Amino acid sequence: MAFFDKLKRMMGFSSAQATREEGTGKLEPGEKIRGRPRIHVLATGGTIAGRLVSTGPRYRAGVLGIEALLDAVPALRGLADLSHEQVANIGSQDMDESIWLNLARRVNELLASPDVDGVVITHGTDTLEETACFLDLAVDSVKPVVLVGATRPAGALGADGPGNLLDAVTVTANPASSGRGVLVVMHGSLFEARDITKVSSSALPAFAAPNSGPLGQLVDGRIHYGQRTVLSPKRPCFDVSRLDKLPPVGIVYGHAGASALPIKAMLDAGYRGIVSAGVGSGNLHRDVLAALADASGRGVVVVRASRVPSGLTLRNVEVDDNRFGFVAAGMLNPQKARVLLQLALTRTRKPEEIQKVFDSY
Ligand code: ASP
Repeated sequence: MAFFDKLKRMMGFSSAQATREEGTGKLEPGEKIRGRPRIHVLATGGTIAGRLVSTGPRYRAGVLGIEALLDAVPALRGLADLSHEQVANIGSQDMDESIWLNLARRVNELLASPDVDGVVITHGTDTLEETACFLDLAVDSVKPVVLVGATRPAGALGADGPGNLLDAVTVTANPASSGRGVLVVMHGSLFEARDITKVSSSALPAFAAPNSGPLGQLVDGRIHYGQRTVLSPKRPCFDVSRLDKLPPVGIVYGHAGASALPIKAMLDAGYRGIVSAGVGSGNLHRDVLAALADASGRGVVVVRASRVPSGLTLRNVEVDDNRFGFVAAGMLNPQKARVLLQLALTRTRKPEEIQKVFDSY
């Protein structure tokens, strides 16, 4: 059996999904992309497409079009044949599920074509990790998908966008980047979607993977993969091709003296799931615990995560998850636990089934 077919089986792709890529020019083991790699760039905005302004805030994100970003880095054309399209042009603080669903559909469509070897997505850094996680769970291909952003707008002293974009295309063009799930390239490091998070709102490097570290580094245009990618054999992959929305799921932030008020508001609004960004190992103020236990009793799925930037939220440590029917988020931070819960809720509302999905990602 060809390596990538085995990999797909290990990753839990169904045979229907697996056959979709038959004969579509997927890479075989050790095979180099024949000729020049063909990479499609999808642009969504962000500071990488931002411009300095003279009045009001210092700059505006999501202003420049994709042609301008590509033209600013002539060396890109030496690495690959690039095609491009503008999916959105927003600050990623405005990212939403309708853009996610469009992106997932478009990426799946592009990668199913024998004419595309990989996809680069330019994105704002504010919610980049959430989009990366969503696509990691909704893209069904072993071809590389790489997200990239910048923390300084074009024209700023030390703008990081051009270098990051060059690195992203370098990674996407390299066959060693296949079969690793969705990747993020920022500031000379390469990360997997599951663990990367924005760790600085102002300084560089702005991203880290607190639990697993970066997958590799880029030095002078060469990729040094330091880690093997170990994808869970039962890794979930969600077919979002027929969805036009996702179940509503909110996040409640834990703090000293926390109140149950936000939870009540979410229940009144008909939320199907609630993620708790709890304190410590995902602990909950007693009032919050009572409200979430009540929500869980009414069929709302409650996932316990933690506001602490690293470490795991495991079952039944200080909270009796078995008793309350809660799900533990494991390695996922609250914002990614929300993404996975939204997708999992498209399949089931049973907490024990949803726990299995979390455990397998
Ligand atoms: N607000 C911007 C965005 O996320 C910040 C950035 O890209 O760094 O679009």
